[in-house]
Amino acid sequence: MPELPELEATARLIGQEVSGATVESALAPGINVMKSFKPPLDSLAGDRIESIGRRGKLLIIEFGSGVALLTHLMSAGKLQVHTKRAGPKDRTSRVLVRLEDGRELRIRESGTHQRAWAKLMPKEQVQADEVVAKLGPDAWPERLPVDVVSTTDRPLYSLLRDQRTVAGIGRTWVDEILWAARLSPFKRASDLGAEEEAAVTKAIHDTLDGAIDFYLSGLKVPLPDKFPKPLEVHGREGEKCSRCGATINAVHYSDYTLCYCPEEQTGGQILKDRRLSKLLK
Ligand SMILES: [Zn+2]
Repeated sequence: MPELPELEATARLIGQEVSGATVESALAPGINVMKSFKPPLDSLAGDRIESIGRRGKLLIIEFGSGVALLTHLMSAGKLQVHTKRAGPKDRTSRVLVRLEDGRELRIRESGTHQRAWAKLMPKEQVQADEVVAKLGPDAWPERLPVDVVSTTDRPLYSLLRDQRTVAGIGRTWVDEILWAARLSPFKRASDLGAEEEAAVTKAIHDTLDGAIDFYLSGLKVPLPDKFPKPLEVHGREGEKCSRCGATINAVHYSDYTLCYCPEEQTGGQILKDRRLSKLLK
């Protein structure tokens, strides 16, 4: 699932490629992808792409006429620019923005479910959009005020992924952030001491900053379907922690896995799936 660093890199790298390009036509092969009707998507014909930005896990493609395409790629979507146009049998395309120079800006989604969505609206309405308006402060590039995380008794693992608290972090980067801060996923935010509060906000900033740098220095358009992620703990169950050498542990849920270093994050305690699922409620 793309999270803040992957989306920030996508916005910048694709944005550099297509800014200034003129739209020939725009269509939505994904039947349910468009969640707005006015203005219609085909009104983009003749418009010019101005920039691509990001807010939380949403991308915002802005056009010269003053409209913006707000999109959430959800768990399996991608925004890519292609030199060839999607064929009639392509089942992964959700939105196609065909450019006059022959290229195509494409929102694709792998798998059979159509979850990615997009809305076309006047730029000035983006911040008031019902999804955008509910987002907490962006996790990057600003540093979060310390009290954003510490004024609730929720466990850090669920709190930091709650887009209303802080926008942009999901299951991959929360593992990395908590490892960087040397804190337990189920530590309650209200139990953090002043130093731990500072460690969380620093870890959020530094971890995301490092990931974005990694992508921007290593990736080029066309972007790969799967980003090579610079991960220390997430998806590394059974491997050695690069900092202390302890074995990285994991808690398995039905559709995802939480990873952590027991030596540095839980005082040596191995989290049991049953126990953690209760604690995280
Ligand atoms: Zn460790």
